[in-house]
Amino acid sequence: MEVVKTIEQVREVVRAAHSKGKIIGFVPTMGALHAGHISLIEAAKKKCDFVVVSIFVNPTQFGPGEDFQKYPRPLEKDLEICEEQGVDVVFNPPQQQMYAGENLTWVNVEKMTEGLCGASRPGHFRGVTTVCARLFNIVQPDIAFFGQKDAQQAIVIKRMVADLNMPLEIAVCPTVREADGLAISSRNQYLTNQERADAALIYKSLEKCEEMIESGTKDSQTITGEMRKILNQSALIEIEYVSLVDAKTLEAAEQISGRVLAAVAARVGSTRLIDNIVVDSGEK
Ligand code: AMP
Repeated sequence: MEVVKTIEQVREVVRAAHSKGKIIGFVPTMGALHAGHISLIEAAKKKCDFVVVSIFVNPTQFGPGEDFQKYPRPLEKDLEICEEQGVDVVFNPPQQQMYAGENLTWVNVEKMTEGLCGASRPGHFRGVTTVCARLFNIVQPDIAFFGQKDAQQAIVIKRMVADLNMPLEIAVCPTVREADGLAISSRNQYLTNQERADAALIYKSLEKCEEMIESGTKDSQTITGEMRKILNQSALIEIEYVSLVDAKTLEAAEQISGRVLAAVAARVGSTRLIDNIVVDSGEK
């Protein structure tokens, strides 16, 4: 496995692999790798001949007062995991490689970035799409792998790729969960024991939503009301949003129809966690 730090180096190794006819898979990450990231690497290994993982904590997607400084950066352990998983190249650029000077060019996907996480994290998706556009231009993969865990991110990136005619495919992989349903996240390590236990209520609320849609409930507010009741069982959980939206357009779904994305964002103690499921109501 090669670990490269510069844009020039990663371009060179990928060009060499491409010229041998290899399909290039790419897994962009911010490091602190866990089973969720590993599932993306496994999917990339399955579909591609050459797998590049990037590890870069992207400053432009963090707002003022967010956890950019304290975000975990266990690079040695991450590299061990990548090696074990049979990754071909890790691209781990220092900040000045990715943002050498003042950044004047931004990629912004409109409308779909306004709701859900976009409402409380202004500029977050602009940072995500900008860094992904740069990474796609640098690595030039055939397929890039993202997690359903960050559903809005995956949808926004798909839209950017479609709207800007970027020559790659976006693959979205299922959310990997702990035994009690909590979606695995690099931020779970911030939780105290009690917060960690209560955080399982997030997935419980999503299960309730699925159950209600499957048994025919159509009114969104009735469903989100029940979901809120579950989350409110913990005094440590502060709800940011509980939303049911169209799984493709992210438009609010007042009455349930077609494929619905049920999404929750909540602070558990001081840690912001998000999770979601897609439920097919079976009706258009
Ligand atoms: P991050 O390092 O948090 O930026 O995440 C890198 C990628 O891993 C993103 O595409 C995430 O959606 C994905 N990811 C994070 N957690 C999970 C999870 N529990 N299951 C599946 N994918 C995940």
